[in-house]
Amino acid sequence: EILAEEPNMTTLPDAKLFIDGKLCDATGGATFDVISPWTGEVVGKAADAAAADVDAAIAAARRAFDTTDWSTNVEKRVALVKKYRELFEANRARLGELAVHEAGAAQGAVNRAHVDMAIDGWDAYMEVFNQVEWEKDYGEKPAFGYIHKRVGLREPVGVVGAITPWNVPLYVNIGKVVAALLAGCTVILKPAPDTPGMGAIFGELAKEAGFPEGVINVVFGADPALAGEMLVKDPRVDLISFTGSTGVGKRIMEQGAPTLKRVFLELGGKSAKIVLDDAPNFAMEVAMTMLVFHAGQGCAVQSRLLVPRSRYEEAKAILKGAYGQFGDNWGDVNNPAHIMGPVISRRQMERVKGYIDLGQEEGATLLVGGNIRPDKGGGYFVEPSCFVDVTNDMRIAQEEIFGPVLVVIAYEDDEDAIRIANESSYGLSGGVSGSHDRAMNIARRVRTGSMSVNNGMCIAGDIPFGGVKASGMGAEWGVEGIEEYTFVKVVAWPTGQAQTA
Ligand code: NAD
Repeated sequence: EILAEEPNMTTLPDAKLFIDGKLCDATGGATFDVISPWTGEVVGKAADAAAADVDAAIAAARRAFDTTDWSTNVEKRVALVKKYRELFEANRARLGELAVHEAGAAQGAVNRAHVDMAIDGWDAYMEVFNQVEWEKDYGEKPAFGYIHKRVGLREPVGVVGAITPWNVPLYVNIGKVVAALLAGCTVILKPAPDTPGMGAIFGELAKEAGFPEGVINVVFGADPALAGEMLVKDPRVDLISFTGSTGVGKRIMEQGAPTLKRVFLELGGKSAKIVLDDAPNFAMEVAMTMLVFHAGQGCAVQSRLLVPRSRYEEAKAILKGAYGQFGDNWGDVNNPAHIMGPVISRRQMERVKGYIDLGQEEGATLLVGGNIRPDKGGGYFVEPSCFVDVTNDMRIAQEEIFGPVLVVIAYEDDEDAIRIANESSYGLSGGVSGSHDRAMNIARRVRTGSMSVNNGMCIAGDIPFGGVKASGMGAEWGVEGIEEYTFVKVVAWPTGQAQTA
């Protein structure tokens, strides 16, 4: 009863499944609790899908793809996706609430990374949709005495299972669902157990928009693997679009092999930011790498800072000052200026703390932070932390921590910086700042899906995003992100006899 009087105590609407055009409870009525990362308290209730529910969702998506005009009626689907977009627009406030209370977004981060960026991405998809080449002319070619005309017809791949993480759930859900729908696929969205509400709203608004039954389905449950594994193994599902950890990504490839599943994987990262000694503003470049936004829970965050050895002491002093200035200005759910809140769960908090302990055992020095902060509330608070005297072979430099922990590594020269950036199993993103040509040469040589030169914005809804190596395969966003859900069928016919010489 004390909690009920807390000003920030929120109850989210029940998260319902959406199967074959109906909002529904789980078969048998099971539910699970949604926990606020801020308080550790229950803030909502979600349907706990049974195997029968997942099966029904797959059957509905298959039927909608095979027996309706969804895959061929482009005008109809563009009109519905536009209407859907307007309903999300009208629900911005609720999307913000979900980002705060399910994903633990701080008020100052809600719009930038969670709601605005996601809806802007949606608009970008609508714009680049016009660039999809639905029909390609391959010209004529003689064969066996005849001239043959050839065209490529781009077609939707079929039923898509979209499996998404909790960190920026709206952004990733839109990245997959909107692209798949525009391509003409039908979809089963499977959000993470931590953020079911951000999935359920896709069902609610699909119903309101009037999508044909089975075109969109949403299932989730307490068990992180049950629904996802069913989607991966089922022969009725044509493609799995997954964003999440590298370990689960590998398992999806393995479990998808017997049905030769097409897979599209956006996995983890350990991206390097290289600051060159001729960067126009060395201090700013170093200071801005401080890893605090959304408590460091972003796949493309620059979590390894590489600075020249000759300026390592200077970089340490800059960071010490920057973290000092950031101070204790984080972790208050009601403060609109805060950009950092808790990490998602107790498990994640313990995992991040485990890495902080490990870094010390490995011989790195904590420049700032290092503690769990129960004084911030009953939720999962880890303070901004930064390790120096880090070598790239340490586990804290190689493994994705997914928390507010930056590691700072010294390099000798440009070649050494490139070597360190590339000595990583991951290859998702990264950055380099310095004089343009020198920075561009380095950007060309880092094996990664995107590189930001002098803080150029390399992530946006109208350009492809994806990784190499252990960061995955394929592209999300941009026209490439829509084409990911299609394939090209070639059709040829004879137009006449070939001239013989
Ligand atoms: P996770 O891999 O644990 O879970 C992701 C999703 O997969 C969830 O919906 C989960 O329920 C589901 N899942 C779990 N086991 C499964 C299985 N065996 N088969 C099928 N599905 C299964 O990841 P997470 O903890 O939710 O998210 C954090 C990770 O996601 C980090 O590694 C982060 O780097 C990555 N991430 C990557 C990107 C990107 O675009 N590259 C974006 C955001 C997050």
